[in-house]
Amino acid sequence: MPEGNEIHRWAERHTKAFVGKKLHVEAPGGRFADADAIDGKTLKKIHAVGKHLGYEFGPDAILHVHLGRYGDWTEGVGELPPVKGALRVRLSRKPTGRAAADEATTRHGWYSEDDGSTSLEPADVDWIELRGPSDCSLYDREQWKKLLARLGPDALNGDDPEPAFAKIARSKTPIAALLMDQSVLSGIGNIYRAELLYRARLSPFLAGKDVPRKTVEAMWNDSIPLLKAGMVDRRIVTTLPKHRPHSEGKPLKPEVHYVYRRHGKPCWVCGTKVQRQEMAGRSLYWCPTCQAE
Ligand SMILES: [Zn+2]
Repeated sequence: MPEGNEIHRWAERHTKAFVGKKLHVEAPGGRFADADAIDGKTLKKIHAVGKHLGYEFGPDAILHVHLGRYGDWTEGVGELPPVKGALRVRLSRKPTGRAAADEATTRHGWYSEDDGSTSLEPADVDWIELRGPSDCSLYDREQWKKLLARLGPDALNGDDPEPAFAKIARSKTPIAALLMDQSVLSGIGNIYRAELLYRARLSPFLAGKDVPRKTVEAMWNDSIPLLKAGMVDRRIVTTLPKHRPHSEGKPLKPEVHYVYRRHGKPCWVCGTKVQRQEMAGRSLYWCPTCQAE
C-alpha cells in the first residue's frame, strides 16, 4: 500500500505537470460519475494529506483520491493512449509535443516491485491515468474539511505533532497499531511503522502510554527525513550503510529494510530471526532481541 512518501511524491509530480492548466477529465469506464463537473476546468492546487490526494478545481470541486492497497497512477507523454483495463479516471492537458508517445510513456509497476526509475520529467507529463483506487470521488469543501478533521498530523506537511503525542500518551493500544492509525498520525503505513519501531529499538507491543515521550518524539523526528527520502523515488530505504552486508554504493533491494518482509531471516544487527505476526489485519515484523519487550 502506498504510504505518505508516495502520496506526496505524486502530488509534487502532478503539481509540476498540471497545476494552473485547463484539464481534460474523463472517466471512460463509467465508474466516476462526476468527471463532467471538472472537465475543462483549471486545476488550482493539489493537496496531499496522509494517504489522501485532493485535486482542487474549485472550493467545492475537489477530486479526492485514496489509492488504497491497489491503486496506482500511470503517466505518459503525447496523445492519450487507447482505453485499457479498469481505468477510473484520466486527466490530461494539451500535449506540448515534446516527445513521441510510444517512447516516453511510462507505466509504473506496483509499488513493491518498482525501483522508482523513470525517465519522465514531471513537467513533461501530458496525461495521467488512475486505476484501482479505493476512492475517487468529488468532494465539496465540507467533505474535505471533515476528512482533514479526522486525520492526525502529517510529518511531510510540517504539522504540529502534539495532538499525536497526546493520543499516544493516553492509549492502551500497542504502539505498532497506533503508528498505523491515520487518526493518530497520517501517512505512516506498514513499511514505515515496522522500520521506525526497529530504528527506535522499540517493542511493537508496548502500549502507547508506556512509551517514553522522548522515544515518541524521536520516532516523529526520524520519520521526517525517511519519508522525504522515500519521495525521491518509489523506494523506501531505512537501513544505515554500516548495517548492510554491502555497505558501499546504492543499497541492494534485499538490504533496504531492517525487518519489513524479512521474517525468518537474520536481523542485520544481532543475527536473531526476524518475526512476523498479524496485528489489526496487517503483518507486523520485528526483531525480538533488538526490540525486546
Ligand atoms: Zn536484532
